[in-house]
Amino acid sequence: MLENKKILILGMARSGYEVAKLLSKYNNEIIVTDGKEQDENHVKELEKLGIKVFICDNPEKMLDESFNYVVKNPGIIKTHKCVLRAKELNIPVINEVEVAYHFMPKDTYIIGITGSNGKTTTTTMIYEILKKAGLPVHLAGNIGLPLSKVIQNMKEKEYLVIEISDHQLVDMYDFKTNISVMTNLSEVHLDFHGDYETYKNVKKKIFNHHTEKELAILNKDNIDVINLTKDIKSKIKYFSKEEGANSYIKDNYIYVNNNKVLDINDIKIKGMHNYENIMCALLVLDELNVDFKYAKEYLKEFKGVEHRIEFVKEINGISFYNDSKATNTESTITALKSFNNNVILLLGGLDRGHSFEPIAPYLDKVKEIICFGETKDRIYDWSNEKNIKCKKFDKLEDGLKTAYKDSNSGDTILLSPACASWDQYKCMEERGEEFKNIISKF
Ligand code: ADP
Repeated sequence: MLENKKILILGMARSGYEVAKLLSKYNNEIIVTDGKEQDENHVKELEKLGIKVFICDNPEKMLDESFNYVVKNPGIIKTHKCVLRAKELNIPVINEVEVAYHFMPKDTYIIGITGSNGKTTTTTMIYEILKKAGLPVHLAGNIGLPLSKVIQNMKEKEYLVIEISDHQLVDMYDFKTNISVMTNLSEVHLDFHGDYETYKNVKKKIFNHHTEKELAILNKDNIDVINLTKDIKSKIKYFSKEEGANSYIKDNYIYVNNNKVLDINDIKIKGMHNYENIMCALLVLDELNVDFKYAKEYLKEFKGVEHRIEFVKEINGISFYNDSKATNTESTITALKSFNNNVILLLGGLDRGHSFEPIAPYLDKVKEIICFGETKDRIYDWSNEKNIKCKKFDKLEDGLKTAYKDSNSGDTILLSPACASWDQYKCMEERGEEFKNIISKF
């Protein structure tokens, strides 16, 4: 299908670069385009393979009937001129994962994870536990590992754990999993899809081509998930916060098939949302007949994915958590729900004019707010209004040092800023790294 063809790759970055290299092995004529300058070495490498690379703003001008496929980068919107032109010319638009799927070694067992929240955490846990159990398993997808690269190291009959975002699912057609996990659904990325209905129907593609032989792992407590999956053909296993599902939580234990499997006290990561992610992982293990002891061993140590309520360190009874990924109030609420009380909360960053009021019902857990960055004045005024002790700083560093000075044994110092990082940092990762570096010097 993807041999001896003429293909336009729209958007280079990492996935376009990898898929171009993969496709070049199959005698395809390939043109890569991007609006931004790309890594010089990557461009040279592609050119050596006979691939043409054009940095330009109007790739649609290059497109004509002679092309067989457009491979679109997931970040590019569906109304991009080049995508519309491809549709006019009846040229199929697919993406990197869909391409790589066609070159997958025979009998690969695919576990695909999607959902509005928790994808990376769930994907990481499933992969790490299967690896611990000794299965030949590979990790790929939206987690920053293009499948086109990962398949180079795969052999027949191995396992693939792949995180799949809605941006990827849009242009996937033949791709089929053995197990599909849907963690939850909520109204996100509506700017990309137009409306919630469209977004949900895109997500549903994770169950494409399923029969009763394939498994869907679903959140029983999420009404949108339940409604969306009413007519899927898959075998279904549910997880829930309450009894009455294949995996559930009762009296501080996680159950699978009505058997106690994990004591929540033995799990390092915190929060109901994380227990839901863990239940997804346990149901995958259950399906594959993998001993739960590997999950127990792993979860005793797993500190969370970096920058997502990540446990950093304990110093003199004071725990530090890095949740730099929390760039909106909803994520900060998720973090606060994960702690009991005595939280010193570091809030602040880019000012999008958003309100901090959604956090108000959770302030009983917060003993002090430290605010910083562009939003510091608004957070300071709001905290005073709520009668919460608050100190404001320009820089995270000064705020964190004060938080440490103000803390006592038993306290939690939490960076969960409810703001994007771009007022002072390149990305949220840089902010999280700085937080951890400062702590390492305490
Ligand atoms: P994603 O890959 O879907 O963005 P992550 O695993 O990176 O999700 O987690 C990002 C943030 O989403 C976490 O810091 C947490 O605030 C929230 N989160 C994680 N898992 C869940 C869940 N199951 N339900 C709701 N929120 C979650």
